[in-house]
Amino acid sequence: MTCKNCGEEISGDFCSNCGQKTKVDRINATYILSEIPNTFLQIDTGLFFTIKEFFIRPGNSIRDYLEGKRKNYIRPLSYVLLLSTFYALVANLVSETTFLGEVVLGMAEGGSSAKSDPVLSTVLQWIAENHAYSTVLFLPFFSISSLIAFKKYRYNFFEHFVINAYITGQQAIIYSFFVLVQYLGNIDFYYYPIISLSLSIGFAFWAFIQLFSPAGKINSFLRTLTAYILCYMIILAFIVIGFIVHQV
Ligand SMILES: [Zn+2]
Repeated sequence: MTCKNCGEEISGDFCSNCGQKTKVDRINATYILSEIPNTFLQIDTGLFFTIKEFFIRPGNSIRDYLEGKRKNYIRPLSYVLLLSTFYALVANLVSETTFLGEVVLGMAEGGSSAKSDPVLSTVLQWIAENHAYSTVLFLPFFSISSLIAFKKYRYNFFEHFVINAYITGQQAIIYSFFVLVQYLGNIDFYYYPIISLSLSIGFAFWAFIQLFSPAGKINSFLRTLTAYILCYMIILAFIVIGFIVHQV
C-alpha cells in the first residue's frame, strides 16, 4: 500500500515518512463536523504552505486535497474561519465596511421594499456588517450550486463544501490585502472595491477551471458561471421567501 499523501510504501496505520493516516476516507459530513471543536488549535500547521499553494495552483491543490494529499494543508473549515476572522479584524481596524458590505448596504438603502421592511433591512445590515461571517454562512448555498453545476463530475456535497471553503478563504486574503493597501496608501478611488471584487471572482473561476480541467476550459468556465448564477438565485429566493413570510 502507498501513502496517499507522499506516495511512500506503508504497512502500519500511519505513514512512517509523512505521518498521515494510512486510511483516507472520502470527505463526508462527519469529516467536516469533526473540525469544529479544534478549529483554532490546528492553524499552526501549514498555514503559509496552504496560502501559497492555493495562490500558485488553486484547482490542482484542491484536487490533491480531495484525493488524499491532506497532511500539509490546514483543514478547510479552519482555513475559511481563520481567514474570514482575519479579514473582519483588518476591516474593523481600518474602520472600513467590507467591500461586499458596501454593495449589500447599497441594496438595503436603495431598495424601497427593504426600507419599508425593518426585518429585511436588519438582515441586510447584518450581512453587510458581518460580511466575513456571512460568506461562511453562504458556503452551503455555494456548495449546492457548484454541486448542481458540476454534477456530472464525481464530487459529493461535502467535497464541494471543501472546494468552496478553500476558495472563500483565499478570497478573504485578497480582500484583506486590498483593504490594507487602500488604508496604507490612502487610496480613494471609486472603482477600487470593484477591482477587488472582480479579482476575487476571477480567482474562483481560475480555481474551478483548473480543478475541473479535464472537462475543458470553456466547459468549466460555463459551469462555474452557472454555479454563480444558481447561487445568486438561491440566495435571492431565500430573501424573497423570508420577505413574503414576514409580510404575511
Ligand atoms: Zn506519507
